[in-house]
Parts: sequence; C-alpha cells; structure tokens
Amino acid sequence: MKDKNRFVEKITPKSSDFSRWYVEVIRKAELADYAPMKGMMVIRPYGYAIWENIKSLLDKRIKETGHKNAYFPLFIPESLLKKETEHLEGFSPEVAWVTHGGDDELEERLAVRPTSEAIIGNMYSKWINSYRDLPVLINQWANIVRWEKVTRPFLRTAEFLWQEGHTAHETQKEAEEETQKMLSVYKEFVESELAISVISGLKSEREKFAGASATYCVEALMSDKKALQMGTSHFLGQHFSRVFDIKFEDRNQKLQYVWQTSWGVSTRMVGALVMAHGDDSGLCFPPRVAPLQVIIVPISIGEWKQNVLPVAENIRQSLDQKGFRVELDAREQFTPGWKFSEWEMKGVPLRLEIGPRDIKNNNAVLVRRDNRNKQVVSQDELENKIQEILSRIQKDMFDKSLKFREDNTHEVEKYQDFESIMKSKMGFIKAFWCGNPDCETKIKEDTKATIRAVVSEKEKGKCVCCGKDAGFLVYFAKAY
Ligand SMILES: [Zn+2]
Repeated sequence: MKDKNRFVEKITPKSSDFSRWYVEVIRKAELADYAPMKGMMVIRPYGYAIWENIKSLLDKRIKETGHKNAYFPLFIPESLLKKETEHLEGFSPEVAWVTHGGDDELEERLAVRPTSEAIIGNMYSKWINSYRDLPVLINQWANIVRWEKVTRPFLRTAEFLWQEGHTAHETQKEAEEETQKMLSVYKEFVESELAISVISGLKSEREKFAGASATYCVEALMSDKKALQMGTSHFLGQHFSRVFDIKFEDRNQKLQYVWQTSWGVSTRMVGALVMAHGDDSGLCFPPRVAPLQVIIVPISIGEWKQNVLPVAENIRQSLDQKGFRVELDAREQFTPGWKFSEWEMKGVPLRLEIGPRDIKNNNAVLVRRDNRNKQVVSQDELENKIQEILSRIQKDMFDKSLKFREDNTHEVEKYQDFESIMKSKMGFIKAFWCGNPDCETKIKEDTKATIRAVVSEKEKGKCVCCGKDAGFLVYFAKAY
C-alpha cells in the first residue's frame, strides 16, 4: 500500500497554507482549471455538476416564489449604461467593451454585461404601462463579465455564472417585501442545501450595490475565518425606474414610477463549499449538492473481477435507479487505498466498500467522508441505510458549520480587543457602530476588517471605534 497516500500528499495541507490548499484542491479534484486568458477559468465537469445541482435546487425556489425565467442580451449599448452615472461609475473599471463587429468599428461601443439593470430597465419601460402589468417577476440565469485585476477560481474571475432576479412593483412596500423574501430564500437555500450557516443583514452605504437604495446580504464564515458574501438582495427604490422611465398608470389613473428589486447569487457558491467544508484531505461536499453522493470501491483481491465486480455493479444500478448520484470505480490500475484517498480528496460524502468477505456475508461497508465513521450494512438494507446516512451527513455538516460560526463570533466593546482579535483569532466581530463612515474607514485601515452586515438598528450601545452613542449592531470581518 505504498501509494496509499500519494494522492493526498501532493496537496498542501489546509492548515499550513489556506490559499495554496484552495487552488490546489480545486485543480487536483478537477473542479476547475485556468484558461489561457488571464483571470478566466474553465469549470470542469465535476465542478459544473455542483453548479447544476445548485441551479436546479435554487431555480425551484425562485419559481415557487412566483418568478419566471427569461433571457436578455449579453451586450448593453454604452448610452444605456451611461444613463445611470452612479451605476456606471460603480462598474466602469471592470467593464469589458466591444468596439468592433468583424472588421467594422461600431458606431457605439457595447458593454459586455457586468449586471443587467440597464438592459432590463430599458425593456421594462416598454412592457409596463398599467398597474395591471405589475408585479413583473423575472429571473435570468446568465454569465457576467467583470474585468477583475486580482482573481481566484470561483471567488473572483473575469467571467462567472449567476442568476439575477429583476422585479418591478406597484408600491414601495411590495418591493421591500420582495427584497426580504428573496434574502430569506437565499438564507434558507444556503443553510439547507449547502449546509453553511449564514448571517443576514444590511450592507453599509460603502458596501452597497451601485444605484441601490439598500443592499441586503447573506454572509458566511469560511474555515480560515474570513467572511464570504454568498448572495445579495437589493431594494432599488425608484432610482432605476426614473432613469429608464419605467412608468405605469396607477389605480387612480395617475402616472407613477415602479418600485424595483434585484437579487443574485453566483458560482462563488462553489468556492464557498470548498472553503467552508474542506479539510487537509481535500474537499467535503454536503450530499444535497455533491456531484457524486456515493462512490463504490470494490476491494480488488483474488478473483474480484469474477466475484466482487458483478455484485458491485448490481448495487450501483439499483442505487442509480433509486435516484442516488453514484459511480463504481472499477479501474484496475489503482489499489483500493489509492481510490479511497482520491475520492476523499474529491469530497464524495459516502464510500461503499465491498470485497470477497462482504460478498460471502451479504454485506457492504459504508464510510462517511465528513467524520470517517464506518458501518457494516447488510446488502438488503443498503438503500434505506444510505438514504439515512446521507441525511445525517447533511445535518451534521450544517450543525458543524453553525457551531464553527458561533465559536468564531466575538462580541467586542473595546477597540483594543477588536484590533487584537482581528490580528490573531479573526472570525466575525459583533459590535456597535455609530454609523459614521469615518469609523468604518479607520477600522478598515487599522485591521482590514469591513462591515459585513448590519443586523440590528434597534438596540443601543457605544461605537466600538469612537465610543459615541451607536444604534447599529454590526458584524465585522476580513472578507474575500
Ligand atoms: Zn463611531
């Protein structure tokens, strides 16, 4: 068994260099690879399968809450994007421009969409005339281009995949309710499907989306104790409707501007799964979104191809028919030990081992990826047991994530403590903030921590930075 650990040894341990571990595990597990264009990545089948699972589980929720999918063009005329200066300025360093069609220079440059408020706003102004046309509840699954200077697979790349919801409403109240509704859809989705515990709240003025009245977010703590924004939901007010002239005749025959929202999550979620759940042995995926839920490894001793392989294949087929995502690793050139560590590295939640002795006893061995617990199970009970264990893994992974977040959230009153925690333990700091951007800036300059979310505007305390009366209870962290 000399080769047993070779696969894993090639990866830098997470505990010694998190950034290197992250990139190495993504490439080694074949989630993604670098593309020839700087800052771009190729999402490989194993990584894309996670995105497909995320997409189908989230799409279901988006539709259940009354939205329909549509598709808008990739290109946005410069004049349209320029109509809204705050919005354009927010994105302009990152916009990619098309200047030629074939050999001909275009009369007007086209932006490759950095987000779709402008093009969708333009169309909504044509489609919406009366209160009877409202609400408009549309979602789009698409690719986005933002010319980022510093990139990292899944977390920040020049092109990424996402969904963006864009809604228009009759009243402010309805639009605000929609913003909150989608925020809670995201929270529930991330916690129950990705098994990652999140906080949710309001962004500060500085951190909010360009052009929004208010940006809400869900944020999680990665296992290196830095925060990652997992999704945002924006209340846009009437800002874009005034710019793009989206008016409707209300119930009193008066012309009004619509109230809007937009909300999105991206392939960043795949990066979050890697960083939140992975360990020194590699990836660890929650069963609900794992590309593969069960990997069958036959123990290749003696006449295994005659005795073991056909039984293993039968098990694979029956699990497959029951809807489990399952594969059989029948490769001859690798030992079982090699395969164990490879599939552990790839984060498959459950391994099924079966050898000559198990065949004799009508058994199989199930090994969990998350805690490596082993269980001998009768072949007659496999489906039920596997279902039960996968549900258990999903729950245990979430509980672990919740505990991790709670253990790494520090309530702080003194600025000195703030600084020392950000230097050593990191994680979330829960503290009061007076609302002054100068305090926000000072904190960022001193500690690199930013406001991740305002979670309460009702309680009263003293600003952790300036000591003045403060009404905002805030989560701070260093963030991706
Ligand atoms: Zn202050």
